[in-house]
Amino acid sequence: MKVALVAAECAPFAKTGGLGDVVGALAAALVRAGVDVRVILPCYRAIARPDGDWPVIAALTDGVVREATLPSGVTVWLLDRPDLFDRPGFYQDAEGHDFADNAIRFGWFGKRAAEIVSGGHSVQGWKADVVHAHDWHAGLVPLWLGFKTGSPPTVQTIHNLAFQGCFPSDTVASLGLPPASYQADGAEFYGRLSFLKAGLYYSDAITTVSEGYAEEITTTEFGFGMEGLLQARREDLSGIRNGIDTQEWNPATDRWIAQAYDRDHLNGKAVNKRVLQEALGLCADAAAPLCGMVSRMTWQKGTDIVIETAERLIGAGAQLVLLGNGERPLEQAAVALAARHPAAVAVRIGFDERLAHKIEAGADIFLMPSRFEPCGLNQMYSQRYGTPPVARATGGLRDTIAAYDDTASLGSATGFLFYEDHAESLWGALEGALALYRRKESWVRLQRNGMDRDFGWHESASRYLALYRRVAARKKESGHLAEHAVRQR
Ligand code: ADP
Repeated sequence: MKVALVAAECAPFAKTGGLGDVVGALAAALVRAGVDVRVILPCYRAIARPDGDWPVIAALTDGVVREATLPSGVTVWLLDRPDLFDRPGFYQDAEGHDFADNAIRFGWFGKRAAEIVSGGHSVQGWKADVVHAHDWHAGLVPLWLGFKTGSPPTVQTIHNLAFQGCFPSDTVASLGLPPASYQADGAEFYGRLSFLKAGLYYSDAITTVSEGYAEEITTTEFGFGMEGLLQARREDLSGIRNGIDTQEWNPATDRWIAQAYDRDHLNGKAVNKRVLQEALGLCADAAAPLCGMVSRMTWQKGTDIVIETAERLIGAGAQLVLLGNGERPLEQAAVALAARHPAAVAVRIGFDERLAHKIEAGADIFLMPSRFEPCGLNQMYSQRYGTPPVARATGGLRDTIAAYDDTASLGSATGFLFYEDHAESLWGALEGALALYRRKESWVRLQRNGMDRDFGWHESASRYLALYRRVAARKKESGHLAEHAVRQR
């Protein structure tokens, strides 16, 4: 089977969050399962090799296709158009503003990707059996293929429904989209063009990254206005939990941490804690529970909730390290907090993959107070690193954390969940966590429960593969589903 993954990110070439991790790891898992995979990615400046550009394998009317290889061996086709992608940043400029031409950038990317994967513009004679589009950046791919006879079936994955790729209505004409696509039964979303809605409407199947989130997005609370369409397509919507890269995120082999460790050698974790405390300028107190958080600093991630809880945490003798970037007021509030409590709070603004590993390994408790969380990766990394998560019971967090409930025995618990999106609720869970932390034997059991869990890609990749087979078979059977749908409209 030949599968094209079309996405704006693919780790380690391009990553700003979970999307990059997932595309890179899913591609590798599919290759291991015997699938012939191409990842289709914009050729950002950051992807250039130090010793020159990746080789050109095909010319486009207004660009070229380059072929690159991920460290995992996966083949990536880079769609190169320097006026659109040869600049610093993926989506935003240095000040954090979206590029003004994002509609043109990802509009071009989606159109050319659709031509290439469907064999309309032949690259090495390769044509996909199934096309898997990720998030809004690739949402026009199902649209273009839905309007073309004989094209492969499409799967659209939602990594985060909050990002919908909405642009003014005149974008339809500037991108040359079929006028028939711009209607409520199509890519129109409250008077604007939504790339994501295009993907959701024209794809043969829709997935999102956890079963919990697949349920949630059909409700008004989490649907961001798309709930009606998602309810209508409920039959075609499923949740497939993200896996994690268990080689990259393995405390026994992690090259970025001070001391490797595993479930039977947890004393190595104490070394990582001390080294981290020292590196961050925190008081090197082995007994102080160190709480870590690595995430975009946004309303979604609940950074404000952590900042509001911080004083109580410090009062209880705990320490806090925050790594992330995002909304300026949250960054500033976090920096100000650290300035007030330099021995107990460390804040690093920026994106730092190595420090993320060091925090997973060195912290005692990991914080994820997300207001919504499609899947979340850090709570899985943290369980693997013996750093039990304290997380809000939403989406993928609820699906992947077995909550300790102090009325019950420890059982197979791996972390703590709280329910309301405010500081009181987080603090309630943290009090439970801090109390258990002082009961060393129980804490070690909690750590080991998490470290024993398998969050690898194997099962999820098999589920994607089964889905690809289903959509391919269905398309074959029913003739051309998408064209049929277009004719009906
Ligand atoms: P999202 O994709 O919504 O940002 P996820 O939890 O799915 O959240 O994935 C986030 C990924 O990005 C994780 O691998 C996390 O470690 C990483 N990450 C987020 N912010 C930073 C940062 N400032 N530095 C390093 N890694 C980060």
